[in-house]
Amino acid sequence: MDNVRSAAYRTTAESIIKKLALRNMIGHYCETASDAVELVRALVANGESVTWGGSVTFSQSGVKDALTADGHPMIDRMAAHTPEEQDEMWRRQVSADWFFMSTNAITLNGELVNIDGNANRLALLLHGPKHVCVIAGMNKVVADVESGIKRVHTVACPLNAARLHTNTPCELTGVCANCHAEGCMCCQEVITRHSRHEGRIHVILVGEDLGY
Ligand code: SF4
Repeated sequence: MDNVRSAAYRTTAESIIKKLALRNMIGHYCETASDAVELVRALVANGESVTWGGSVTFSQSGVKDALTADGHPMIDRMAAHTPEEQDEMWRRQVSADWFFMSTNAITLNGELVNIDGNANRLALLLHGPKHVCVIAGMNKVVADVESGIKRVHTVACPLNAARLHTNTPCELTGVCANCHAEGCMCCQEVITRHSRHEGRIHVILVGEDLGY
């Protein structure tokens, strides 16, 4: 990364981290995804269980591979096939030590902006796992909540629709139609403005483009 971009990202991230602290969330900044991998390895204690939800960033950053290699129990919901297995998997996810996700956007004020269709990802953010670790590339930073929602509809959803084949207007035309389609990814819109539980939510900002 060039020096100008690197300095600007760090300065912005430091401002967001101060706002996160006011919201009882612990912020970190890593210049690269490899630095984020090392930070996560230091945060997650030996033997702690790990799960994740709908996050391209978790794989793309190398964090998933590193935690797997470190021997953590990895709770992968995609490994469940029957309804019974899915029920059991959900129970294990809810009681995991760590839940990893990205965020659809993070504001300069430290609010997390997320949408979800099935809402399992957001359910785990809101309650359950002992710790939540949000890993977000600086491409996810927006001015405010309204810009975050706009980012979801104009950037995150068209890309996720193309990835997941949701058959929604944002896949078929590339433009949000504020739909009520069967595969709608915007059933829930959640703004995390504060965490009641000290030390539960970590946010790692990374000075690279990660995820959608
Ligand atoms: S409301 Fe529907 S069309 Fe708009 S971004 Fe969400 S899923 Fe796509």
